[in-house]
Amino acid sequence: MNLSREEIANLIRDLQGKILITTHKNPDGDAIGSSLGWYNYLKRLGKNVKVIYRDRIPFFFDFLPGVEEIDVTEEITEEFDWVIITDVSEPKRTGFENIPAKKSIVIDHHITAEPFTDYSIVEPEISSTCELSYEIMKLIDPTLIEYPVALSIYTGIVTDTGSFSYNNTSPRTHTVAAELIEKGINPYLVTKKIYERNRINRFKLLEVVLKTLDFAVENKVAHITLFKRFLEETGAYPEESEGFINYPRSIMGVEVAVFFKEIEQDNWKVSLRSKGKVNVAEVAKKLGGGGHKMAAGFEAKGSLKEIKEKLFQELELALESAEFEKIGN
Ligand code: 5GP
Ligand code: MN
Repeated sequence: MNLSREEIANLIRDLQGKILITTHKNPDGDAIGSSLGWYNYLKRLGKNVKVIYRDRIPFFFDFLPGVEEIDVTEEITEEFDWVIITDVSEPKRTGFENIPAKKSIVIDHHITAEPFTDYSIVEPEISSTCELSYEIMKLIDPTLIEYPVALSIYTGIVTDTGSFSYNNTSPRTHTVAAELIEKGINPYLVTKKIYERNRINRFKLLEVVLKTLDFAVENKVAHITLFKRFLEETGAYPEESEGFINYPRSIMGVEVAVFFKEIEQDNWKVSLRSKGKVNVAEVAKKLGGGGHKMAAGFEAKGSLKEIKEKLFQELELALESAEFEKIGN
């Protein structure tokens, strides 16, 4: 059941029993920020709350309050009364086969979201799950948005908006950020923690990944590839490839950037970024994934060659229809 902000605020205010908070696998800033934001907030509301993830947390989020209390596990064995799932549009994105909770709530901002829990709030237009969470927290009790909550929320907004640079950044996003800064957030501290602690291994990885740069669909698609062996060769962590996709996207004339990441042999994670003409969420959806208009992704089994063929065909169609629409106008 889809709820309004007021309804979800009332529901969360009155939650009883053991509450689990989780998010999507390979958690990013919005996933971690929103889940820890809620964790710190609900503790202040006097709730019994625990955070569990499927995948480990990238080291550059180690400064977020409560991060050391997160459990990372393949399977959730403990029973809960409620689960709050943030930044997740479909059950398989949590990475868990089963979440043992009597009732469930989703707080999310993905276009492709279809309700899969008892209660949900999904606002595809909002910058981030963190911004949405902040609005709900304000309705419950704004005085509980203390520094640890504010820091988590601010971090997720920064990462999901590309430091307030993407189109999902609204006037309201800036107002929320301003309110968080008024609560003591130091913007440069967040920037330094997330973006200015690069290890040399990251640059070694970037070097080999950029060597794979190639083009498709009349140079409108630029793609890079991370083979698993690159990680061993450079000693980089998988999460240290975060942001690499911005290089192919930044090339003049390129409309869509693609990043192929080998998880295991014949098992790939594909990230898509658009410059605006192509709705990459639609393309990702056709291939079993989802996301946002400008940033989306999917997982694919098979050889890289097969995955490329299928994807480039879809991207060609999407680019053609984008051109057609332009002529139609
Ligand atoms: P990234 O490329 O940074 O992993 O993800 C970009 C966006 O695409 C994220 O907002 C995420 O929601 C979405 N996304 C990435 N991978 C998947 C996927 O496998 N399934 C779905 N449904 N969405 C994905
Ligand atoms: Mn998000």
